[in-house]
Amino acid sequence: MVVSGRGIRSIKRLHSKQLGEIQKLRSRCKKGSRRWRKLGNTRARLTLHHERRVRDLRHKGTRQVVDFCKDRGIEAIFIGNPDGVRRKDSGRHHNQRMSQWEYGKDIDYLQQKSEQDRIVCFTGDERGTSSRCPVCGHRHKLKGRNWRCKACGFEGHRDIVGAVNMHQIAYNQVVPFPKRITYLRPGVLRRSSSPGTGQRCLAELRTQAPQQECLKRVPPWDSPQTANLG
Ligand SMILES: [Zn+2]
Repeated sequence: MVVSGRGIRSIKRLHSKQLGEIQKLRSRCKKGSRRWRKLGNTRARLTLHHERRVRDLRHKGTRQVVDFCKDRGIEAIFIGNPDGVRRKDSGRHHNQRMSQWEYGKDIDYLQQKSEQDRIVCFTGDERGTSSRCPVCGHRHKLKGRNWRCKACGFEGHRDIVGAVNMHQIAYNQVVPFPKRITYLRPGVLRRSSSPGTGQRCLAELRTQAPQQECLKRVPPWDSPQTANLG
């Protein structure tokens, strides 16, 4: 089974972009001005909003993993610790992803939930598990989401390759590569369009030509549509 964390990653990326945008707008305002304060409030609310969404998805994702194990009578879960992956320098874009990757929380949630369901849970180094062929043991860097062995021609999902290799490390036992993969997303990502939430707020801020607004009074702030901005 594979549970994708891409939803969480995209929320975080969106949040970083919005923070940047607010920072840009704010830098054009006079410090302490009405608009400067409003933008600060918006930023705080967006941050809370994103945190709630990420936490919700993290609970749903880890719940799926533990339910999957429980349904199949699995007694122990090994969690690979990706410390090594995060430390290496992998370019500006991927570095941001890595630094926002809170796998410690994933591990915590998994441990708590599996404990409740009486499943043993332990962690260990997962270094090298995604760059080794599960069939012939050949090692090479992988490209893309599919692992293709240069030596024996084996092909499979890279995360399952990692999991099969981790099984060997954790239990000292080789398992065959699974034929069927259950691919799950932790939850549905929604774009919120209700007033007062992230997307809409920023869209409104964008349309209100920012340059002069700090100096002259901003008329639409008190209209009912934007009254809940802060
Ligand atoms: Zn191979």
